Amino acid sequence: MPELPEVETVRRGLEKLIIGKVVKAATSNTPKSFPNAPADVERFLTGAEITAVRRRAKVLMIDLDNEYSLMIHLKMTGQLVYVGVTQPFSSEDTRAVKNGSLAGERRSPSEKVASLPDHFDTRAAEVLSDETSELRFGAGHPNDSLIGELPDRSTRIIIEFTDGSHLYFNDQRKFGWVKLLPSIEIPNIDFMKKVGPEPLEADFTWQEFAERFKRRAKTSIKAALLDQTVVAGVGNIYADESLWGAKLHPQRLVATITGDEFHLLFDELRSVMNLAIEKGGSTDKNYVNAEGKRGSYMDFARVFRREGSPCPRCKATIVKFKAAGRGTHICPNCQVL
Ligand SMILES: [Zn+2]
Repeated sequence: MPELPEVETVRRGLEKLIIGKVVKAATSNTPKSFPNAPADVERFLTGAEITAVRRRAKVLMIDLDNEYSLMIHLKMTGQLVYVGVTQPFSSEDTRAVKNGSLAGERRSPSEKVASLPDHFDTRAAEVLSDETSELRFGAGHPNDSLIGELPDRSTRIIIEFTDGSHLYFNDQRKFGWVKLLPSIEIPNIDFMKKVGPEPLEADFTWQEFAERFKRRAKTSIKAALLDQTVVAGVGNIYADESLWGAKLHPQRLVATITGDEFHLLFDELRSVMNLAIEKGGSTDKNYVNAEGKRGSYMDFARVFRREGSPCPRCKATIVKFKAAGRGTHICPNCQVL
């Protein structure tokens, strides 16, 4: 599942592309993914202009100019893919077409994708976009739908804009969703009322961070970190990474953690999340971000999925065990209970 940095990467990517676009039509063949009355879609989505792309925890919100919003949760396998308008052929192409030499030679984007090597990286993405003259931009669950021809079998929702570009919501397992609702209702949704503060907000302090944990004094620090009502958006990767950074054992009880330790944990959590956003997301799979670049935070992970490797700090062997119901990675030398 994408974590906060990945969803933020999606948000930043979409923000550059879809603000100001006007929805021409929205269609879905999967009511579970798009649980909105057709009359509402027609009335409040069709013809609306996109004014903002926001994020709260792992939820994306696309605001419209009519005080409605689309709320989006990618869940396990959701992804958003923006496909811009294909540009006219270049003059060279036009000449080739006139000469008949291009017929049948211009491969579709999906054919190109099929031939991309497994280590497909930024350079490949740029080449792809140059050759097809198509501005494309996929984020979310890492599979071929991010870069292949759309719609495909995993496409649940198609939003077409008046300029001919499209936003596809693909979701193999159908746990994700896109809901249309009045913007004013969003803060009243149960999850929105309960979710903790955004860890990366500039005005969030380590003292407030420490204060949030008091309600979970009797649980382990890892369980509390993963509790979305304590702090928003911390998943397994960033919990393990920040606990290693702060030299805290994940099973330490919250009540035993000192102010200095909370301060350090706060700094570590923000720095690993910011690094992940800077690197275009993580995650534990071949995550592809909004610009088709593969997320590379995992290249920088110090303990997550590094069991058996030496600790970057003390060279002791990193171990994996279960804590807070999740696979947990620590250095047994740096993080003692
Ligand atoms: Zn160590």
